[in-house]
Amino acid sequence: MSKQTVRDLDVKGKKVLVRVDFNVPQAKDGEVADDRRIRAALPTLNDILGRGGSLILVSHLGRPTGDPAKDEPFRLNKVAEKLSELIGKPVKKVNDTVGPEAEAAAKQLAPGGILVLENVRFNKGEKKGDVEFAKKLAGLADAYVNDAFGTCHRDEASMVAVPEQFPTGHRAIGFLVEKELQILDTLLANPKSPYVAVMGGAKVSDKILVIENLLKKVDKLLVGGAMTYTFLRAQGHSVGNSRVEADKLDVAKHVLELAGPKLVLPVDHLIADKPAAGAETKVVDGPTIPEGWFGMDIGPKTIELYSQVIKDAGTVVWNGPMGMFEVEAFAKGTKAVAQAMADSSAVTAVGGGESAEAVEKFGLAEKVSHVSTGGGAFLESLEGKSFNSLKVIPERG
Ligand code: ADP
Ligand code: MG
Repeated sequence: MSKQTVRDLDVKGKKVLVRVDFNVPQAKDGEVADDRRIRAALPTLNDILGRGGSLILVSHLGRPTGDPAKDEPFRLNKVAEKLSELIGKPVKKVNDTVGPEAEAAAKQLAPGGILVLENVRFNKGEKKGDVEFAKKLAGLADAYVNDAFGTCHRDEASMVAVPEQFPTGHRAIGFLVEKELQILDTLLANPKSPYVAVMGGAKVSDKILVIENLLKKVDKLLVGGAMTYTFLRAQGHSVGNSRVEADKLDVAKHVLELAGPKLVLPVDHLIADKPAAGAETKVVDGPTIPEGWFGMDIGPKTIELYSQVIKDAGTVVWNGPMGMFEVEAFAKGTKAVAQAMADSSAVTAVGGGESAEAVEKFGLAEKVSHVSTGGGAFLESLEGKSFNSLKVIPERG
């Protein structure tokens, strides 16, 4: 069960439309604030160029409103500049995705050339999955590669209707998507035991389907972050002012029953008198948070316990920070889990917006097996969902 990859395409002298996910964080001045997603696409791009193909790149950036004046910051100009710097080659950028300027530039593209099209979400047809729009976009190139893992859970035109316009032999996934799918296969179908999931972050409700699906597979599920307090509340404990989803207590009870002893809750907590920098903090043992206090991070005994379980694991998947790590005083638990993942000889995978950000921030991204480039796509994969964007790419013959 493996998809046709860019390796299987004959790209010599061909124009290859690569759907990349260059939806990068932007600084206030519009500069690329974090180029991780651009760097992640380079293996695919260099492979095509190295074999004598040319590149037509298509991506979205941010959430354009449809009002051209407001959408100026969502143009891909800075992204194209950053790509040129990282790949060490000239990059041509046009101001439309389809239409005369894009067509002319695509026609003139010579082998080894790189063309970046304008933000694909400037076109209404993109979100709608419009076939007429897809035909125009597909008409620019000879082959299609999906290397946009972070967008794979979307049915937008450039993800589904565009590849459908190419003969099946001219569609493939890129190396980034291939790598993400390989790690997901390990996590969902072939984990080495003991298999441990670490779940944290803001809400139980965001993660409920992931938790339910992973409970079928893992040996242990270690819980941290704010969702801890919804579970503790569901068990009948007082949690002071900690963040609780009061309307999700039934869901939390159901998960606790389903999980039995597999689900491990923190044995101690770092609490604070306010959920902000400069707060007074202390550590409490046991499941009760005193009145007027906020549970902000897992405590030192929990750190010890979780770190040991992670180090003894065969496979670890982690989503959701253990505390409000953005505030230094509440970052210890998240840092310790990241460090334990880095030190473990297990297959270690991290996914989710803030979780990936935390691992990067602590400088440990290179020390874990994989940091997913997809937040939503990673979580929906862990829920057991399959994506139309990948169904349209054939299996290898
Ligand atoms: P991810 O993006 O990795 O899936 P989430 O979006 O679920 O993670 O949650 C991340 C957020 O949860 C972080 O911004 C963090 O500040 C917050 N958080 C974690 N623990 C707590 C806590 N105990 N109290 C309040 N907020 C918390
Ligand atoms: Mg998040």
